[in-house]
Amino acid sequence: MDLKQKKFGQYGGQFAPEILMSALEDLEKKYNEIYPTADFQNELNYYLKNFVGRPTALTYTENLSKKLGCKIYLKREDLAHGGAHKINNTIGQALLAKHIGKKRIIAETGAGQHGVATAIAGALLNLKTEVYMGEEDVERQKLNVFRMELMGAKVIPVKSCSRTLKDAINEAFRDWVANVKNTYYLIGSVVGPYPYPIIVRNFQKIIGEETKSQILERENKFPDAIIACVGGGSNAIGIFYDFVDNNDVLLYGVEAGGEGIENGKHGASLYAGSDGIFHGMMTKVLQDRYGQIQISHSISAGLDYPGVGPELAYLYKKGRVNVGYATDDEALDAFKILSETEGIVPALESSHAVAFLIKNREKFKDRTVVINLSGRGDKDANTVAKMLGKEI
Ligand SMILES: *Cc1c(COP(=O)(O)O)cnc(C)c1O
Repeated sequence: MDLKQKKFGQYGGQFAPEILMSALEDLEKKYNEIYPTADFQNELNYYLKNFVGRPTALTYTENLSKKLGCKIYLKREDLAHGGAHKINNTIGQALLAKHIGKKRIIAETGAGQHGVATAIAGALLNLKTEVYMGEEDVERQKLNVFRMELMGAKVIPVKSCSRTLKDAINEAFRDWVANVKNTYYLIGSVVGPYPYPIIVRNFQKIIGEETKSQILERENKFPDAIIACVGGGSNAIGIFYDFVDNNDVLLYGVEAGGEGIENGKHGASLYAGSDGIFHGMMTKVLQDRYGQIQISHSISAGLDYPGVGPELAYLYKKGRVNVGYATDDEALDAFKILSETEGIVPALESSHAVAFLIKNREKFKDRTVVINLSGRGDKDANTVAKMLGKEI
């Protein structure tokens, strides 16, 4: 159990209104009581195995490896139920909510992917599920709204301010304060006030634990490098965490370079952001000189977040995690290359990690590299077709 620290160096903490503090304290206490028990772990492992489909495969890419001149393995989170790693966290937290005795879960979602993963968990575990979503995002992501509703979740459009993710976050906090007795707030990445970054990381670290035993079995050694895309940071910290003390394994987080770092339309909070407060935490954020949060941009909705998890900010500052970025165009190229060479269509988010390897292939020559393939790309077919000037 490592819930001792509320901060990772200078990052993290609880930058939340007074009225939320007792809810956060209660969550920490219940989590500490419930998470380590054999009962909880057994039930969680049951669902991870029989519902999510874990362990996910570690796939050696014969064609891509030959093409790029290094040994590339993919950790196949795209094969998890729902098509991404997000389910590891939503099942974990929904189960926690159930053990605490909460009957209702709420979430906020930008593109809808976390909303869908929450709706899945809510349906499975019989929890009333309500998801806050900016009105503009509701309009843009109709398919995900429909999927959530199919699974019995209620989507609540948020009409305030920019009508996007940050407004949905505010509404979810407000709801939680008002209904804390019966409601669990299910955060979608390793972000938010303590203890969320730790809770979510502990539900995602299974990715790295599986990777470690799988690569040892195949290669009889650790990989030279691990690469993962970074939005909030949950799939990255999920695959990194078990390797953090293995200093020979280089860790690379790849952010959304969007239309380019120089012109400001990107989502690279670690690479190009500065220390600030957002979503209840101190972390690296995209902000203007008055501390107002700036709008992020990425071709991939899942990387479109103006902050990043505090643990990653800390590991980056400490020099343990390296950070790079891939632009929209580079991600799109990687999307096509992986699809053509391996018959695996990656999520546009995950394509950023692939793109980083492609553009730095000289650096990784003859090395063994694991890429966390955080999700599958079916959801992105329309976006990609549009970019390629094709009609579906
Ligand atoms: C949501 C999402 C991400 C970004 O979230 P992290 O918390 O940074 O992992 C990355 N890949 C996919 C497929 C996603 O759905």
